[in-house]
Amino acid sequence: MRKRKRKKRSSRKRHRSKRKKEETKPYDFCQYRDCKNKSDIIVVINGRYYGFCDKHYQLIDKILDKVLEKKNSASLEDLKVYTKGNRITHITIK
Ligand SMILES: [Zn+2]
Repeated sequence: MRKRKRKKRSSRKRHRSKRKKEETKPYDFCQYRDCKNKSDIIVVINGRYYGFCDKHYQLIDKILDKVLEKKNSASLEDLKVYTKGNRITHITIK
């Protein structure tokens, strides 16, 4: 049997990266339910970024206050965020 030499084709895949115009991130806007404000504050809760306007950030403040009543320290990690798509529907204490 003859051995056929196969030429290996080097197929280089071209990765073209499209230049995007400044991408808008979900957290550029307040993500609380139907809020349409731009975000004033971006917080990281359990490794995820969330944008909040001042008004809705106060909600987090209030919840953190409640956490403080229960224990001596409160952090954003004590919160549980419920989302639907990019929207926050609900925030509770873990
Ligand atoms: Zn808001």
